[in-house]
Amino acid sequence: MKLTVCGCGTGHLERVERSWWMRLLFPGRRLYYCSACRSTRLVRKVLRARADTAAREVAGVR
Ligand SMILES: [Zn+2]
Repeated sequence: MKLTVCGCGTGHLERVERSWWMRLLFPGRRLYYCSACRSTRLVRKVLRARADTAAREVAGVR
């Protein structure tokens, strides 16, 4: 389990139910599983990152 987002893109991330101790230790983070690199990640702002990516695509910038 890692605390950073991998470079596979948010499209591979799936929400995973956190354990009670994860909620206690990392109240602001969400647990995701990446199907591309098969790792679990405890990160924050994934939805924000997805929004930023969508905004960039709308603006035509990659
Ligand atoms: Zn990944």
